[in-house]
Amino acid sequence: MHNITVAIRVKPVQQSFKTILVNGSTVTLLDPELEFNNPVDILKKNRIKDASYEFDFAFDQQADQKEVYEKSAEPLLDDLISGQNVTIFAYGATGSGKTHTMMGSQNQQGIIPRALNDLFGRLTKDQAAQASLTFLEIYNETIRDLLTGKLLDLREDGNKGLVVVNLFKAPVPTLNDITQYIKYGNSRRAKEPTGANENSTRSHTVLQLMLKQCTFTFVDLAGSERASQTTNKGQRMIEGAMINRSLLVLGNCIKALFSKEQFVPFRGSKLTRLLKDALQGNSKTVMIANVAPNNYEDSFNTLLYAHRTRNI
Ligand code: ADP
Ligand code: MG
Repeated sequence: MHNITVAIRVKPVQQSFKTILVNGSTVTLLDPELEFNNPVDILKKNRIKDASYEFDFAFDQQADQKEVYEKSAEPLLDDLISGQNVTIFAYGATGSGKTHTMMGSQNQQGIIPRALNDLFGRLTKDQAAQASLTFLEIYNETIRDLLTGKLLDLREDGNKGLVVVNLFKAPVPTLNDITQYIKYGNSRRAKEPTGANENSTRSHTVLQLMLKQCTFTFVDLAGSERASQTTNKGQRMIEGAMINRSLLVLGNCIKALFSKEQFVPFRGSKLTRLLKDALQGNSKTVMIANVAPNNYEDSFNTLLYAHRTRNI
């Protein structure tokens, strides 16, 4: 088994968009030109190839929060408790379900509350007493502490390696402490209106739970849609370019790490510099790539990204 697991999650959409089919762990993307506009044009049909991709898991529109958690994240709790670092990423365009998958809502809890709940049920009192939590976002290559609101610098610090200067490490001896800090941090997340989605988050959000020997990292990545696809201009356009670049660097780092290459381009973005320690060495990584069937272009790009990341 490789150390990276890549899963696709298809968001339920109201209309019967038949652009994404899930069959076991295979995901097929149907070209909408063919499906909707001209189903009887044989010449056209022969030119267009529907694309199938194989993943570790694929969750269709019916998969609920519990199933996604139990298949993708729960098995890693053993690794974490035995001292390995575990990192879970949610990738996808704005509106594809990243935050739903990671955080969810009160009634439909996502991976983060479920994982931390189960983890705390398994820690000894002494282990829990040493737990601490950090919560930050990277917006336009600027790091902001979601627990204090401060803008922070990344700095090389001798033998400690890379540190985020003055990042608040909240002591979280109980699950209730965690819940309170997460709630507080969530309310601070940057919300910037874009043409693609009014309340989209254009930042990478990184939540880390530190235990004595290991770190559990959850990353809700910024929307992967292309800058050119929305009506973005000026500032929004710059955001898009930075997001695209940092996602590209992330993909390259994961590929390099898991194909055991000598050089991993961590330095290419703040996100990867920050995650260097968590990703290096004996660690496990899960990427859940979210797709919404009503957006063919974004779904295609997401499937391609996720597939490239897996095929190493
Ligand atoms: P993102 O974080 O990728 O921008 P969200 O997680 O905010 O997207 O999802 C957009 C909307 O779709 C939200 O209202 C969310 O509750 C809903 N949604 C996403 N995925 C699902 C799902 N699997 N089941 C039900 N609702 C979902
Ligand atoms: Mg979101």
